[in-house]
This record gives sequence, C-alpha cells and structure tokens, in this order.
Amino acid sequence: MQCPNVCSASMETALVTRIFYRDAEPVVIRDLKMNVCSECGYETLPLKSARIVENVFNNRIEPVGNFSAPLFQPA
Ligand SMILES: [Zn+2]
Repeated sequence: MQCPNVCSASMETALVTRIFYRDAEPVVIRDLKMNVCSECGYETLPLKSARIVENVFNNRIEPVGNFSAPLFQPA
C-alpha cells in the first residue's frame, strides 16, 4: 500500500494504542491495527479496525479493564 503523501516507503501494519472519546468520555483501545507510513508517520485505519472502533462506540464490545495514566500538557 502506497502512502498518500507519495513517500518511497510502503505503509506497514502496526498495533497501536489509541484514546477515543465516546460521549465525551475517553475510551482506550489497545492493539488496534493501523497502516502506518514509516517515512512520514501518516496513518490510516483499516476497515476491520474501523469496525472495532464502531463496535466500541455502540457498546457491542465489553471492556477488558480500566486504564489510567498521568496526563501531561505542554506549558
Ligand atoms: Zn508517508
């Protein structure tokens, strides 16, 4: 798969952890498959992963646990 930014590197599949907001509440999805360009970092969500996000948003997937972490913000 070619990066839309016309990079020479091809896009690779990577497992990422992402925070999404469902009804203004954060939810974390771990090991979500993304296509990532190793040159510019551009990411696309494969259809299968988009379905997973959709299922989380529609409460069709049960959470496996809770996530909490320190929050940082640039000054
Ligand atoms: Zn790229």
